[in-house]
Amino acid sequence: MSQPRALIIGGSLAGMFAAHLLRQNGWRVDVFERSAEDLAGRGAGLGSHEALVAILKRIGIDFSAPLGVSIPRYVWLDKDGGVVADVPRPRLMTAWSRLYRPLKDLLPRELYHASKSLLRVEQDDRSVTAIFSDGSRETGDLLIGADGSRSAVRTQLAPQAKPEYAGYFAWRALWPEAEATEAQRELLYSRNAFCIPDGELWVSYSVPARDGDVTPGKRDYNIVWYRPAEEATLADMNTDAQGREHEQIPPPLIRQDVIDAAKQAAREEIAPSLAAMFIATPRPTFQAIYDLAAPQLVFGRAVIMGDAAFVARPHVGAGVTKAALDAACLADALAEHDSIEAALAHYGRARKAAGDWIIDRAREFGATCIHGKTDGAGRRERAERAWQEYLHMPDRIHEWGLEALAAE
Ligand SMILES: Cc1cc2nc3c(=O)[nH]c(=O)nc-3n(C[C@H](O)[C@H](O)[C@H](O)COP(=O)(O)OP(=O)(O)OC[C@H]3O[C@@H](n4cnc5c(N)ncnc54)[C@H](O)[C@@H]3O)c2cc1C
Repeated sequence: MSQPRALIIGGSLAGMFAAHLLRQNGWRVDVFERSAEDLAGRGAGLGSHEALVAILKRIGIDFSAPLGVSIPRYVWLDKDGGVVADVPRPRLMTAWSRLYRPLKDLLPRELYHASKSLLRVEQDDRSVTAIFSDGSRETGDLLIGADGSRSAVRTQLAPQAKPEYAGYFAWRALWPEAEATEAQRELLYSRNAFCIPDGELWVSYSVPARDGDVTPGKRDYNIVWYRPAEEATLADMNTDAQGREHEQIPPPLIRQDVIDAAKQAAREEIAPSLAAMFIATPRPTFQAIYDLAAPQLVFGRAVIMGDAAFVARPHVGAGVTKAALDAACLADALAEHDSIEAALAHYGRARKAAGDWIIDRAREFGATCIHGKTDGAGRRERAERAWQEYLHMPDRIHEWGLEALAAE
């Protein structure tokens, strides 16, 4: 066969991993990204795992600059700022841009096509065609839907797979380290911090700045505060000042009264040193938490990967590692099987099992940790369980990633 060609829809992290790993196997790849902008400015802090680092190395990403911020300890603070627990547990927190920038820079420019929005896919036994909103068409041997949780590829090929609201949402804020007080810096910048109000969970940690800078004083502090909400409450929060309801309200349109209420709750429920950073953030944002599991990953000559296939709740901190493992599994299967069909069948089986596992772990975790008020009964036990779950989660994800890597 002449050089096979893959059409990759989505130029974010999953798309980048797929592009590099398939190219290493001799495939011609083209990445089609809907956005006209450079994507490096998006995203915030991410946990990293050994399997992810292994795949970045395989791609040839230069590690001479640190990948992220090393945080040696976990601390649990009560609402008055008292230390409930403070234990050694090293983690490396990186930033979305710190991964994306080198991956994008390493891809030859002519292979990346911005402002290309996929409308639909057509295929026969041996080829697949992408049809874009500008009317253009591209044909290849394989199409990879790496187009995120609202994937156009999945929506066409598996329309029954829809995101399911988990019953809670997360407030998010990014606080510049330069503005932290000395006391905040001392306690919090060397610790993953937790606060566990009744039935809720606050997690915060230091991350590289948006431009990837990990120099102390220039980094950011990432805040994620999970709170339960009925669908009607969420719908109200997603309604802008003009009365228009959004599926996910754009951050600038979040109503001031919604932000003010969250800041007031932070004053009442969260350790003051943590709450202060959230309260001082002019416009924190929020996002609803969803589960998404595709029933299958392979549709003839089209496959889906990354968030297009599975979105696990963020507690497991595995989205990027999963996207990298999906791409590595696909590239290895294509290299090792005699036919594309056999390779895709292997990919579909292996990564569906991996995706189902991670979704289930994240669901269990959410049920344990974020559940609404307990009226005092069993409150301390539940908080203790949530803390223990968070302490041990990275190790479990770590093993899951390494097992997947070893299985290829
Ligand atoms: C709150 C939060 C916290 C997170 N924390 C972590 C963490 O700690 N660790 C971790 O590993 N992961 C984390 N993640 C997940 C992580 O960000 C994603 O899993 C990761 O970015 C991989 O996504 P992706 O490339 O599959 O999809 P995306 O990043 O969503 O990219 C999809 C791309 O496809 C493009 N696109 C969409 N539709 C079309 C179309 N029709 N045509 C062409 N292009 C299209 C989009 O513009 C986009 O660039 C977190 C996510 C959230 C929301």
